[in-house]
Formats: sequence, structure tokens, C-alpha cells
Amino acid sequence: MALMTPEQFEQSLRRLRPRIFMNGKEVEDVFQNKNTRTVVEANKASYAWALDPEYKDIMSYYSPLIDETVNRYTHVSASIEDLVKKAEAGTFTAEMLGTCIYRCVGYDAFHSLASTTWEMDKELGTEYYPRFIEYLKMVQKNDLSVAGALTEPRGKRNRKTLEWTDPYLSLKVVDKNKDGIVVRGAKINISGAYASHELVVLPQAAHFEGEEDYAVAFATPVDAEGITFVCQYSPYSAERDQADDLEELGNPIFGQRETSMVVFDNVLIPWERVFHCGEYQYSIRFVTRFARTHRMTCGGTCKVGFMNQIIGAAKLIQEYKGLERAAHINDELMEMVVLRETCRACGMAAAHRGAEEPPGSGVFLPDELMGNVAKLNVANAFWRVMALAGDIGGGLVVTLPSLKELKNPEVKNYVEEFYSFGSDEPTENILKVHKLLQNWAAGLHGVGTWHGAGPIMAQKIMLQRVIDYEHEKELVKRALNLKAKKG
Ligand SMILES: Cc1cc2nc3c(=O)[nH]c(=O)nc-3n(C[C@H](O)[C@H](O)[C@H](O)COP(=O)(O)OP(=O)(O)OC[C@H]3O[C@@H](n4cnc5c(N)ncnc54)[C@H](O)[C@@H]3O)c2cc1C
Repeated sequence: MALMTPEQFEQSLRRLRPRIFMNGKEVEDVFQNKNTRTVVEANKASYAWALDPEYKDIMSYYSPLIDETVNRYTHVSASIEDLVKKAEAGTFTAEMLGTCIYRCVGYDAFHSLASTTWEMDKELGTEYYPRFIEYLKMVQKNDLSVAGALTEPRGKRNRKTLEWTDPYLSLKVVDKNKDGIVVRGAKINISGAYASHELVVLPQAAHFEGEEDYAVAFATPVDAEGITFVCQYSPYSAERDQADDLEELGNPIFGQRETSMVVFDNVLIPWERVFHCGEYQYSIRFVTRFARTHRMTCGGTCKVGFMNQIIGAAKLIQEYKGLERAAHINDELMEMVVLRETCRACGMAAAHRGAEEPPGSGVFLPDELMGNVAKLNVANAFWRVMALAGDIGGGLVVTLPSLKELKNPEVKNYVEEFYSFGSDEPTENILKVHKLLQNWAAGLHGVGTWHGAGPIMAQKIMLQRVIDYEHEKELVKRALNLKAKKG
């Protein structure tokens, strides 16, 4: 059953028992809790699309590994064409959901795991790669949703890991026995893991001699003993909790980008699921290869999909207000489109200029330079797009009354009349579109987009490493026929 139906996905999740807390209470049932339910719905959509004749080209893939069609989000790119499809899938899922496809980080972690385990085996004689491939086959055969976790609590950023007062601020191996390793620590800001089947874990940062116990990568079921999820909770979560009717919300079905802290309190990871253990020199390669892959999509093309929702709402509001001929509004809309296309272009360029990494591994990764440029552009462009949409939307984007007032006999008529812009558009539509825009422009997405796939300093550091300016210097030397250095 390499492709599950959405219903089979839901049934398969019901067999899991992850330990989850939100807003001071245990979440007994991810399907009943209105916030965790959004994560189930987002992942579930990916199962429907893979079977849908209209979308299956982008959301599914023939896997030679198991000789079956699998969900794209369980596949490791093996060509430029795969990378291009991956970039396109980022836009497609984001614009359809208006939130994360929670299989994304796991998908990108697979790329890092495949290339780096292959390289370790080649250079160290370890046997991680076949182990990882067996795991991947299991994921593909069972069409599992896999979340990914790198980010850690960390201690003082100006101290080294071994200098932190608490040794578990980075995930640490505390025991090794015949069955596997035991890990203690936490990962933070982890997208959608509690409504996935599995979680793949990579190191967050480079490790050094003496830090062998922190050099670890593995996979675990989300309900393994000792794992606890502590969920984010924002005003948007509270609003959803209190909503009588989800239609009142800005993104009714799929909600916000939901994350949690994932605590590992002495969790046993069987050896067959351990992909990196102690080889500290390789930790940084897991991180950079993950980032290289993730920045093309989470940093790049997925935000194109988000921008499409924002642009769509701004355009509708322009029309509701009769501003179609206002030159500055058209200019703002065009600026949004230009920013969106610049972001798309960088993400697609990262895919088209991708390469096999390391050579011989069969794993294709996006271009480092363009992936980082994509994320850097998005971080700034997204704020600008939100600001432009806020201008077009007007104060109503943040002063909007509850959509409940449309059912309140005391004020229904006032709301219908005074929020109609004198147009023939149902006031309900006008309010809903403003609510969607509020969800984007006055919500969690600005900071979320900035930090998702790493804050901008991380991209700048990577760019400093890959740019050497030799080509540019040569051009000038040749143009001016500059003389060789003295002596
Ligand atoms: C919506 C969302 C979803 C996410 N999903 C996932 C996920 O699924 N999996 C996952 O692993 N992660 C996920 N993340 C985590 C994301 O990658 C991190 O938030 C990001 O890398 C920033 O780390 P941080 O939040 O710890 O901030 P910090 O690292 O604390 O950054 C804050 C500031 O401190 C600076 N800084 C940090 N360290 C140093 C240093 N040593 N020296 C100088 N300056 C420093 C940064 O540059 C930045 O300016 C998600 C984040 C968000 C917002």
C-alpha cells in the first residue's frame, strides 16, 4: 500500500498514542483538539493530492527503491527534474494549505541523511547508508508522514556545548546498549510532529572533539516511550479554541503553522534506526545539507504559495473597494508580484542548478548559493508583501469585528450595511477575506518566515563560505589588462 487514502492516513494516526500538552492541558485526542486537528488536516491533504489525477504528477513519484508509486514527500531527489518538482511542490502545497505541509522537514532531512550516510560509509567504513535506505523503504511502503527535528534549546550562544550548565540543552546520547542508544534532551519549534507517524532527528550544529555524544541522527515513532510534545499556544490558538464555527477563522481548515517542543526523556532508539552516532566531524554535513535542501523550499518556493494567498486577498479587497483604477494600489499589487516572482526564480534556480552531492551518491541537492539567496530574499520580501497588503486592506485588517456579529440580531444589519463598501458583494465575503489577510499580515507568519529554515545570519554565513569573488576579480583584471603583482 505505497499510497494511503486520506481515510487510511487518519486511521493509521489513530493507532498512535503520542503524549501531547497544549495550553496547560493534556491533548487526549489530536483529532478532537481544534488546533492539533489542523495539522492532521494539512498532512491528510497530501494523501488526497497524491491520488488525485489533477495533482498526482506533482505529489507522487515512481520509486525504484520499492518499485511502486510513492508520495513525493517520501522521496530523495535523484535528478534535477526531481529537484524542480520538489520546488514546485513547495509552492503548490503552501498555496493550497496556507500553512506548512508538515511532511516537508522530514522530506528535506531524508536528502541530508541519504547523502551524508553514503559519504560516511565510503570514508569511514560504517554501515549507515543501507540502514537508512531500509528505513526509507519502510517509510515509502507504509506511506508514512515524517516530521524533522534539528533546532535545540541550546545554552548561552557565546559558550560551547560542553560549557553549558545543563548538558541536555543539546540532545545527548546518555547510554548505548545492545538494543540501541538512549537519548535525553529536546528539540524546539518542531513543525507538526505530533500528527505525523515518525520523526527524524538530525544534529542542529557542528560538533567537535569531546562532543561525540551530541553527534547523533536517528528516526523514531512519535509515540515512543519518553517523548512528550509541548505545543505552541498563541492568540490564534485561543481564537480557534473558542470558535463555534471554523468559518469565522482566517484559515478555517488548516490554521496556523503549528509547532511544539519535543522532549526526549531517556528515549531508546534501536540501532537499526540510528544513522549517526559519535562521528562528530560529520554533524555539520548533516546540518548544511539539510539547510541547503530546506532553504530552496521552506525558504524559497513555499513562500511563493503563501504570497499567492496574500496577493489574492489584496486584489479582492481592491475590487470590493472600487479601487481598480487607483494607480498606487495597482503599483503595490505589481510590487507584490515582482517580489513573489523574484522569490520563485531564486528557488527554481536553486533546483535547476542543483547537483549530485557527494558525487556518486545518487542524491541531488539544490545549489547552495541560490538556495541561500532564495531564503534571504524571502525573509525580507515577505515582510514587504505583508506591509503592502496591509496598506490595501486598510485598518479593517486589524479592526475587524467577529464574524459572529453576522448572526447577532442586535447588530447584524449594521455590520452588513457598514462593512459592505456599498458593493453588491455579500458582507460575509468581505469580512472573510479581511480575516484571511489578518491571519497573514497581523499574525505569526512574519517572524515564522524569518526564522523558518534559519535566521538570515545563517544564510549570510553560508554565503560568505561559498562566494569567493575570483571570477569577478578576473573580469576586471582582464578588462583593464592589470599587471601581475610586484616581485
Ligand atoms: C514556524 C516555524 C517552524 C519551524 N519548524 C521547524 C522544524 O520543523 N524543525 C526544526 O528543526 N526547526 C524548526 N524551526 C526552527 C527554526 O529553524 C529556528 O527557529 C531558527 O533556526 C532560529 O533558531 P532559534 O529560534 O533558536 O533562534 P535563535 O538561534 O536564538 O536566533 C535569534 C537570534 O540570535 C542569533 N544567534 C543565534 N545563535 C547565535 C550565535 N551563536 N552567535 C551570534 N548570533 C546568534 C540569530 O542569528 C538571531 O538573530 C521552525 C521555526 C519556526 C518559526
